[in-house]
Amino acid sequence: MELARIEVVGRGISRDVPPGRSLGEAVKELGLRTVEYIPVVNGRVVTWDYVLRPGDEARLLPVVSGGAGCEVCGEEAVYNYLGISLCREHYIEYFEEKVLETIREHRLIRPGEHVAVAVSGGKDSLSLLYLLNKYRDLLGIELTALVIDEGIKGYRDLTIEDFMRINEDLGVKYRVISYEEVFGHGLDEIIMIARERGLPKYPCSYCGVFRRYLLNVGARIIGADVLATGHNLDDMVQTYLLNIVTNSLDRILHLLPRTSGADHPLLVPRVKPFYRSLEMETTLYSVLMGLYPSFIECVYAPEALRNDVRNYINELEERRPGIKYKIMNSLEELIEKLGPGTVRIGSCRICGEPTSGEVCRTCRYLDSLGLLENLLRWRSRLGIVEG
Ligand SMILES: [Zn+2]
Ligand SMILES: [Zn+2]
Repeated sequence: MELARIEVVGRGISRDVPPGRSLGEAVKELGLRTVEYIPVVNGRVVTWDYVLRPGDEARLLPVVSGGAGCEVCGEEAVYNYLGISLCREHYIEYFEEKVLETIREHRLIRPGEHVAVAVSGGKDSLSLLYLLNKYRDLLGIELTALVIDEGIKGYRDLTIEDFMRINEDLGVKYRVISYEEVFGHGLDEIIMIARERGLPKYPCSYCGVFRRYLLNVGARIIGADVLATGHNLDDMVQTYLLNIVTNSLDRILHLLPRTSGADHPLLVPRVKPFYRSLEMETTLYSVLMGLYPSFIECVYAPEALRNDVRNYINELEERRPGIKYKIMNSLEELIEKLGPGTVRIGSCRICGEPTSGEVCRTCRYLDSLGLLENLLRWRSRLGIVEG
């Protein structure tokens, strides 16, 4: 039987273990304490109840710094990176202050703005919602959670449950928009229709296009000035390298912490308040704040190339701590030198939404699936303005 591998990053420990049981159990059997690590399987952060499959590569990222104490108060440190050691309390303070400073310094969110937070139910979007809600008065903002329900059984239904549970305490206004109500079918069914019609598209390409479309339209329905997403520094750096590999320079130039809304009247500006926070940092924050979701991995396999790029960058970072920041600095300098992208944005001939082509990708995909009428009916029922 093919085994699964568990590696402890930075400790030189690597073991092959039988699959079929939870990562948490397997880790405890190796004599390790789960509270001291963040579990990552095949490049994705998972929870300890993740059941190991044959061939899985599990990597444990240490969060507890062994002997060193918090440099502020001397208590046991939970964070130790680039020479900074912090306990739970001081890490939370440090993380929140860093994000608030990023927002202020780059004027990501401005006083008086109504912010729609794109909530996927994952740790980053839940942490972002929590943090913006905690400081909404200080920032002077109005907040609404925008949840897109793609209709992925065994994944999105569970993450929406997580969101509802956490939001019970937060009490943030929210709006759920489902593929079902807009397109007449959830993603699971859309994939079946695509197969029946012999369409060669992967689930993620439909999902990414539809999701982006509904986030923008949804933000307008809510009446939001900006759409905030939980993208962290790792996401930015991965997309940067991915677009170098695939030679998509224009996309790189759009990787801004706050995109301009000036390109099209129907385009809601997007902000990424976590763009200077490492994935490890947002994960640690979500774990410490009890915002870590019970389930995380989408049932559809992620893009293979992005996975490779993610693993490659993580390996580099392990050997040269701080290199993610350096790649990020390179991205910021590149955009500063070349200026933001110059793609001309027009209006889709069919639905009126912003697009660089004549017909937007959502309308093109829906047309090939025979579902375009559903979208147009939904738009007219809700009175969504055309461009
Ligand atoms: Zn401390
Ligand atoms: Zn369209």
